[in-house]
Amino acid sequence: MNRRRQIYEGKAKILYEGPEPGTLIQYFKDDATAFNAQKKGTINGKGVINNRISEHVFTLLGHIGIPHHFIKRLNMREQLVRQVEIVPIEVVVRNVAAGSLSKRLGIEEGEQLPRTILEYYYKDDALGDPLITDEHIACFGWASQEEMHDISDMAIRINDFMSGMFAGIGIRLVDFKLEFGRVWENDFSRIILADEISPDGCRLWDIATNEKLDKDRFRRDMGGEVEAYQEVARRMGLLPEGVDSAVLDLETHRKKRGK
Ligand code: UDP
Repeated sequence: MNRRRQIYEGKAKILYEGPEPGTLIQYFKDDATAFNAQKKGTINGKGVINNRISEHVFTLLGHIGIPHHFIKRLNMREQLVRQVEIVPIEVVVRNVAAGSLSKRLGIEEGEQLPRTILEYYYKDDALGDPLITDEHIACFGWASQEEMHDISDMAIRINDFMSGMFAGIGIRLVDFKLEFGRVWENDFSRIILADEISPDGCRLWDIATNEKLDKDRFRRDMGGEVEAYQEVARRMGLLPEGVDSAVLDLETHRKKRGK
């Protein structure tokens, strides 16, 4: 039974109207997609883990002064967030060559980049999220120059913080994707971090073994994606030893019984 109004359904999340004006409920699904939704599947318990990981990362980012949409976690799969006007740009931050960068420029996966690279992609599924530059963003008015300054500044600060956080638990932050939104106060708007931060949108490699602990396991049919997501959560201290699979199994059973 669900009387809440659904605002939007994406590939991995559903947004519902929140309890107060200006709020939304973000529901994390187990659905996984890759290659612009040409490959579809589910990763059992992913939504539960991503909800926890994203809560944790957003909370820590708040502590270093990054404004964000997260308000509080409501239950295993839902969090209360501020409603934003999404900036139609995916910001990708890269520390190590991988994925589309390696393919496009012929750089071997795993090569440390001499400096961090910021890339922008236009959020449009029908176009396959094409790579764009500041020129396109300015020309088509997707964000102002001031907003792009704030966005790039925050992306670099988030990268510095997250690289350190993951290094501390033996994980190399290879690359990741961020989304930002506008909130309006009277006639003024400002940019805040939105969406989620989880192994769905990050490349996370074990520092010692280079083992992939992220969605590439699903994209590349490697198997072990449930365990990889659990391992990231466990190292972050979000799944106490031994409790992890039991809790997730319970939740999965409940869902299967439709409760
Ligand atoms: N990414 C994402 N959503 C997208 C595209 C990319 O979350 O629609 C993330 C991806 O998980 C990776 C980073 O952004 O951590 C860079 O992805 P890349 O451009 O290499 O694309 P891919 O190889 O995933 O197609």
